[in-house]
Amino acid sequence: MPVESRGDVLVKVRFNGVSKRYEDGTLAVDSLNLEVNDKEFLVLVGPSGCGKSTTLRMLAGLEEVTDGEILIDDTVINHLPPGARGLGMVFQSYALYPHMNVHDNLSFGLRMDKGENRLAKAEIGERVSETAELLDLQDILDKKPRDISGGQRQRVALGRALVRRPRVLLMDEPLSNLDAKLRTRMRVELRRLHEELGTTTVYVTHDQIEAMTLADRIAVMDGGVLQQHSTPLEAYQNPSNSFVASFLGTPPMNLIRGEVLEGRFVAGELSFAIPKSLSKKEGVCIYGIRPEDVVFSEHGGIRCTIIGVEHLGGENIWHLDAMGHRILARSQQLDHLDANFSQNDDKHLHIEIGLPSARIFDV
Ligand code: ADP
Repeated sequence: MPVESRGDVLVKVRFNGVSKRYEDGTLAVDSLNLEVNDKEFLVLVGPSGCGKSTTLRMLAGLEEVTDGEILIDDTVINHLPPGARGLGMVFQSYALYPHMNVHDNLSFGLRMDKGENRLAKAEIGERVSETAELLDLQDILDKKPRDISGGQRQRVALGRALVRRPRVLLMDEPLSNLDAKLRTRMRVELRRLHEELGTTTVYVTHDQIEAMTLADRIAVMDGGVLQQHSTPLEAYQNPSNSFVASFLGTPPMNLIRGEVLEGRFVAGELSFAIPKSLSKKEGVCIYGIRPEDVVFSEHGGIRCTIIGVEHLGGENIWHLDAMGHRILARSQQLDHLDANFSQNDDKHLHIEIGLPSARIFDV
């Protein structure tokens, strides 16, 4: 069957109105429409309970679909058993066989294949060495999982999925068991590997930094509903709603609930002029501005009380109160501000937030 083509982009995986309702009535995924292109690294991201693992498990065949269709290479796979879907899976718990060495853990799946998928012994050997080299596992092939590090175990789990040359690689929070330093290294490693192999990948995480750094595109979910499907940068710069705005970014976007009235944004006693591009829509809304977009001004602007400063070395995060609204501002050019802050007895400074970089969201 021909693979559907949009220009020169091939769609590899497609969710067509897919829903999942568990037996207890929980609607975990609600009418999901989502495409993953061939060779794409898609990250499903959202807070705990948003439905991302359920989505992945339906694709894997570990969870039944209540409604809708899932297609791989234009074939509906809803009723195919997991083993017939041509997928590779890596889970948070690496689930390595403890009594087998690394070599046998890598080759196990291939040795178990029967029928037309069966590979000759020599070919299995070749696949294992190729994968071991790719993941730098050559020197530990005869070690048992208990005798290798967490990072190495993670790479064995990944190798076990890749050795089968899956049509799609699925990963569910694969880095959560690693310490922070190793996690950062593995993130870079995973991205490098993806660029080398080009395996279509669907990756689940609640960690927005993993999502931002790994993905070609992200699918942000909340409450079982897809909120935004775009490149990570687009989601950061142009969040489709206040949920996405508050989910991405550390610290997240400042959000103030108020009203646009005759070219001004008004929230209680806080009132400031906003650019024409933002004032087109009048009425109740949420005004959003990222901490790094807040401009410190010497004169004029909004007078704020300084509640505190977090000194992070390369940058500082200012916690400000503007007429009862908490605003976080990030700055790097701090020398004069720091000096002002320590000398400034009444702990005030001025900021501008009525800027084109701000966003206005529906309530
Ligand atoms: P995430 O991976 O984003 O944390 P899940 O897909 O695991 O979210 O869960 C989505 C929702 O479905 C949650 O409300 C969760 O409690 C519920 N859920 C998950 N698994 C089951 C199950 N087997 N039975 C009932 N509800 C479930």
